[in-house]
Order: sequence, then C-alpha cells, then structure tokens
Amino acid sequence: MKILVAVKRVIDYNVKVRVKADNTGVETANVKMSMNPFCEIAVEEAVRLKEQGVASEIIVASIGPQQSQETLRTALALGADRAILVKTDEEVQPLAVSKILKELVNKESPDMVILGKQTIDGDNNQTGQMLSALLDWPQGTFASKVVVEDGKVNVTREIDGGLETVALQLPAVVTTDLRLNEPRFASLPNIMKAKKKTLDETTPDELGVDISPRVKTLKVESPPAREAGIKVESVDELVEKLKNEAKVI
Ligand code: AMP
Repeated sequence: MKILVAVKRVIDYNVKVRVKADNTGVETANVKMSMNPFCEIAVEEAVRLKEQGVASEIIVASIGPQQSQETLRTALALGADRAILVKTDEEVQPLAVSKILKELVNKESPDMVILGKQTIDGDNNQTGQMLSALLDWPQGTFASKVVVEDGKVNVTREIDGGLETVALQLPAVVTTDLRLNEPRFASLPNIMKAKKKTLDETTPDELGVDISPRVKTLKVESPPAREAGIKVESVDELVEKLKNEAKVI
C-alpha cells in the first residue's frame, strides 16, 4: 500500500507570532520555521503503518517556497521514502493545495492520503475535506486511531463529547488529530540518510493548476491585550461584580 502525506512548512509553534506593521499578514523574516505539528503526526502515522508492514511506500509532498525542501528532508529523516516539492513563492490557499494534491494523487495512485487536520498558520481545517471531495474519496477527519484491514481503514475520530469510528473503503483521505500518536525525533544517521533520498521538484503550472487566490485577506490584527485581573475582598463583592459589572449572572 502506498501512502501520500502532505506536509506544510509553517512558523514554529514555539515562536510568538508578530503581526506586520501594515496589518497585511504576520512577520516571517528571520523567524524559525518548522513542519506543521499535525503534519508531523501524519508522517509518524504513515511510518508506523510501514513498520507494521501495512504500507510499502511513503511519499511526502509540500507546496511552497524552495525552503520547504527542509521540511521534506525532515519527513524523509523520519522515515518517508521520497519527496515531491511543488514549488511556488505565491500564497497557496486550501482549494489550490487540494487541487495540486489531487494531481499528485492522479500521478502516484496512493491508496491513502494523510494530512494534518489543520495548519497552525492559517488554521483553515479545509484541505483534507476539499481533497476528499475533489477525488470523490471517503474521508476520516480528526483521526485519533487508524487501523487498516481488508481493503478498509477504520478511523476513530475525535468528535464533541466522545469518539466515533468510521470504516472507509480504500482509497481514502485521513486527517490527523493531536492524540493520534507522538512523533519520533529524527536520529542523526537518519538525517544523513535522508540527504540521499529522492526529492523531485515540480510547479503548480506543470501540474496544470491555477493557484490564484479565491479569498482575499483584508486585515490581520493581534488579539486585544488581556487586561489585568482584580482581587475581590469577599464572596459578596464577587457576586455583586459578576451581576452588575460583568453582567454574567
Ligand atoms: P489547512 O486546511 O490549511 O488547515 O491544512 C490542513 C492540512 O493540509 C495540513 O496539515 C497539510 O497536511 C495539508 N496542507 C495544507 N497546506 C499545505 C501545503 N502548502 N503543502 C502541503 N500540504 C499542505
């Protein structure tokens, strides 16, 4: 079984994101970038399926600038077999990403595509769902457990108030939630080996996909700074403030 995993390069989750002075976006110059955490979980799951003997080949793909090669090399060091960079310096929105991934699916014919449930930069949570619609494949989103058996994949999903398990006929699209697994660290020998693995490059144009944006960002703002709290002297004062100032009771 062949698995395609989509990985995106985003601002590292430990970095305090700063909004640009002209409110057009966030600062990315001289900021540490890493693989989107949900994509790391997607790579880890594919590697575990390969270790179980379920998957035979893992292809990782990223759409983005030249530097996304680093993200792909990380995925190769974690256990993916080969990589594809779809190179562009333009902004690529979820619909365009899913159209590109659809073209890669048509070329590579994987049995499963694993994506993160969302990117921590755009917080879109759209690409997996759109890809599933474009391919007309079943989808198992927000996976916290993935079991492949008899041409099917059983995906346990994190939903409000509990878990739901869906059985999907392969080929299928799966998106990962936080509790699916804990990604491993790449060992030094594997980082060295990853340098020799195949990394192919293509472009949205070569794949015949128009990536022009469909959604326009009007303004990006930081959330309002939190105001300092106050200490109250008594329960009566607290109740009075909740009633008359906060008006929540
Ligand atoms: P989103 O819909 O933007 O929240 O992204 C959900 C998932 O789609 C991510 O975790 C990735 O697996 C995949 N994805 C989104 N953008 C890209 C990209 N530029 N390159 C590769 N994969 C992507």
